[in-house]
Amino acid sequence: MSAITLKNIVKEYGDGYAAVNDVSLDIADGEFVILVGPSGCGKSTLLRMIVGLEDITSGELRIDDDLVNDKAPRDRDLAMVFQNYALYPHLTVFENIAFPLRLTKGALSDDEIDARVRRASTLLELDEHLDRKPANLSGGQRQRVAMGRAIVREARAFLFDEPLSNLDAKLRGQMRTEIARMQRTLGTTTVYVTHDQTEALTLGDRVAVLRRGVLQQVASPRSLYEQP
Ligand code: ADP
Ligand code: ADP
Repeated sequence: MSAITLKNIVKEYGDGYAAVNDVSLDIADGEFVILVGPSGCGKSTLLRMIVGLEDITSGELRIDDDLVNDKAPRDRDLAMVFQNYALYPHLTVFENIAFPLRLTKGALSDDEIDARVRRASTLLELDEHLDRKPANLSGGQRQRVAMGRAIVREARAFLFDEPLSNLDAKLRGQMRTEIARMQRTLGTTTVYVTHDQTEALTLGDRVAVLRRGVLQQVASPRSLYEQP
């Protein structure tokens, strides 16, 4: 079954330039797809259309076969991790992770919120840090709290927009391993945007290469690696 289906997706900005040009892609349930390409090729635009932060000019976007082109972000059941994650400095780690659930008006009991935050924090090895404030955490711990905010939604799919680009090389390597482990453990469908070659070749099941808004190829990391 397809979790996310893109069919002839086009995005034209005001001046008529197609930032995303006729992209079609079927993402299977549980699949980890990496979206790569040079700066300006349309990666963020594509991701923002999937999550619903950007209107689609033409084409069809489906989640579990449901046409979602006109659905609001909150009705798409997706969790996005941004590049510039902002934690609330006055809130504890627990409250930072719980925050998106508290926004969802009245839907979840305190017990359910507590259980979800604990599941996320165990997975991310943040159990011992739940009462601390962001200022007292390391960079890697802060990044994990940001991921916790996405995990806690227990959403249909994860969307990552270059989540590691502001970290130093050592931490990037560490977080790469953690993201791979997290995705395998949860088995959640994931679309991950990066311009980092190592991430592209090590993280995903498939790599989709975008150039000037056009999908050039979609292949396994291994077959890309073996290309001349
Ligand atoms: P990437 O994420 O691959 O760096 P983007 O999706 O940010 O690429 O941008 C793709 C193209 O769309 C670029 O040519 C960019 O200049 C253009 N673009 C992005 N956002 C806007 C906007 N709000 N208005 C007009 N053009 C935009
Ligand atoms: P509200 O629903 O109170 O207006 P927001 O404006 O913060 O809250 O968010 C609107 C909706 O967008 C949220 O209910 C949520 O489902 C969705 N949303 C917000 N942030 C994200 C995110 N990082 N990833 C996915 N969906 C999000």
